[in-house]
Amino acid sequence: MAAGKILIVEDEAPIREMIVFHLVRAGFETLEAGDCRSARQLLADERPDLALIDWMLPDMSGLELTRTLKREQGNEDLGIIMLTARADEYDKVAGLEGGADDYVTKPFAPRELIARIQAVLRRSQSANGEVLQAGVLELDAAGHRVVAGGSEIRLGPTEYRLLRFLMTHPDRAYSRTQLLDRVWGANVYVEERTVDVHVRRLRKALAEQGADAYIQTVRGTGYRFSVRDS
Ligand code: CA
Repeated sequence: MAAGKILIVEDEAPIREMIVFHLVRAGFETLEAGDCRSARQLLADERPDLALIDWMLPDMSGLELTRTLKREQGNEDLGIIMLTARADEYDKVAGLEGGADDYVTKPFAPRELIARIQAVLRRSQSANGEVLQAGVLELDAAGHRVVAGGSEIRLGPTEYRLLRFLMTHPDRAYSRTQLLDRVWGANVYVEERTVDVHVRRLRKALAEQGADAYIQTVRGTGYRFSVRDS
């Protein structure tokens, strides 16, 4: 059985072929697209587990494609890793806020790329098949749903993963660095303030049902999930 089905969206054929070569050798099944239009066709027809999306594509930017996919229903389980030649911090934050699970900066070592792919796949696979409950919150991992007081709370992919991590590790304080490692992945180079951005969004979404107080700020440390008062 293949380790996973990976769609490679990259217009530069030599880079695409190099990635395919290494992924096939690592046991993955691969699909290739040179632009966003054919990528969307393959996503619909083949339902890959993960898409590697280059930042610069001929018909639409990779970031725009990522945003579009994450807004659409049915792509909740699709992992996305962005490939970028641009290493400045703005792009990293923009890529992750656009819904990407991780990014890899070119040039990269094939082994590093494969490790990132495996980490993202592990995160999405382990997120299946359990229901977590705390206070008024209920997180159904199989259905990828969060319910509070009978109504569904809509969360972005990162907020969802953050909440899921915190709910599986309640009453413990985590530093921003620890959260980056556990929620974003150990090899991701993201600014610590990215964590604050997502915590703020998560609290805002939970506030509708009065559950924002569960995400507690631990002064000098970071954050903690608890249904008890801080
Ligand atoms: Ca390109």
